[in-house]
Amino acid sequence: MGDTTVLNMAVAAGPGGILALIRSGEAVTRARIMQVTGLSRSTVAQRLDALMACGYIAPAAAETSTGGRPPGAFQINRDAGVMLLAAVGAGAMQVAVCDMARTILARQSHKVAVADGPAAVLGKVAAHFDELLAQTGRARAQVRGIGIGLPGPVEFAAGKVVRPPIMTGWDGYRVPDFFAADHTCPVVVDKDVNLMALGEHRGAWAGVTHLLFIKISTGIGAGLIMDSALQRGAQGAAGDIGHLFVGNIEPEHTEICRCGNTGCLEAYASGWAICRDLTAKGHHAENVRDVADLAQHGVRDAVELLQTSGRLIGESVAGAVSLLNPSLVVLGGELALCQSYVLAAVRETVYRRSLPLATRNLQIVTSKLGHDAGLMGAAQLVSDAIYAPAVVDAVLEQSR
Ligand SMILES: [Zn+2]
Repeated sequence: MGDTTVLNMAVAAGPGGILALIRSGEAVTRARIMQVTGLSRSTVAQRLDALMACGYIAPAAAETSTGGRPPGAFQINRDAGVMLLAAVGAGAMQVAVCDMARTILARQSHKVAVADGPAAVLGKVAAHFDELLAQTGRARAQVRGIGIGLPGPVEFAAGKVVRPPIMTGWDGYRVPDFFAADHTCPVVVDKDVNLMALGEHRGAWAGVTHLLFIKISTGIGAGLIMDSALQRGAQGAAGDIGHLFVGNIEPEHTEICRCGNTGCLEAYASGWAICRDLTAKGHHAENVRDVADLAQHGVRDAVELLQTSGRLIGESVAGAVSLLNPSLVVLGGELALCQSYVLAAVRETVYRRSLPLATRNLQIVTSKLGHDAGLMGAAQLVSDAIYAPAVVDAVLEQSR
C-alpha cells in the first residue's frame, strides 16, 4: 500500500477504514492503527469495539515464534459466517464454501454444460451450495456473500451476462436475481479469467503491480491487473485475447471460430480447436481433460498441437506485452497446467517477438494457485463487497 492510500485512510478512518487496514495487514495493532490514522487511543478503541461487537474482527492469537503476528493484533473474524463460491467453466465447475478468512471448508467438482442456459446451470450451482452448507453444518442464514465466475463477458456492477459467444440463452441475464429468493447477501459475478487473475494476484503476487493472466482451457482469455487493480474495460470485455485475429494459419482450410469470425486465435490454439484437430486425426478427445491426458501419455499429435498452440498464444501475448508492459505473465487453465509444452512455447515466442525494454524484467510463469485460482478470486471479490468501508460503516451505523 502506497503513501497516498495511507493518507486517504487517515482522512477517512471510520470503522470501515480501520477494518480495511486490518484486512490488508497494513495496521493490525492499536498502536499501529493510531499511528496510521492519527486518531486518538480512545477513538481507535471505540471503533475496534464496534467492529468486534458486529462480528467483523477478532483478537488474533499471537504467533511470536514465526514473528508473523505481533501480540495484541486483530484479524478478520473467520467464524462470522461463510461465503459460497462457484467457478463455472464451459464444461466443468467447481463449487466451494469458505470461511470469512477465505479458507475452503468443503468443495466439489462437477461436469456442466454452460450452453444449457442460466436456469439449468444456476439451479445446479444452488443445489450444490445447499449440499455444501449441509456438509459443513451451516445454514443459509450464515451465508454472507456469494461469488460466481462465468466463462463469458459480465457487466460487473449489475452481475449481467453480456453477449457471451458460447453461453446460449444467457445474454442479458442478471445472475444475482436467481439467488435473491433464497439469499439476502451480496452476489458478485465476474468473468472466470478476471477471478483467476484476481486470485493469483492477491494470493501469490501481491507485490506485483502489473500482471497479465492468460487462461488456456476450452477457450482462451486474459485477465488484466494494472496498478494492482483488475481492469474490466468499458463493457466488461477487456482481455478478450482469444478472438484476436491471427490470420488463417493454413490457407487451404479456413477455421471458423465459435464467435462466427474466421482467423481468431481460439480457432487454432484453444482447447476446443485442439479437440477438433485430434478428433480429425482419429484420437478420442471430447474435452480439455482428454487433451491433457493424451499429452500426459506423450501422444505425439497432442504434444505437437499443444506446442503449436503455445506458439500462437505467444504471438498474441507478445502483442499484449508490447501494449501493456506487464512485469508478470501467468498462464493458467487446464492446458497450461497439465504439461510444460505450452509454457515453453509461449516463453520462447514472447521473448523473441517483444521489444527488449518490455521483456527486460518480464517473468512468464504458470499459475501458483493452479485449479484454485478462480475460486480464490471469487472469495476475494466477495470479501471486497462485504468489507467495503462504506458498507461496514453503514452496517455499524444501523446497529447503534
Ligand atoms: Zn472468435
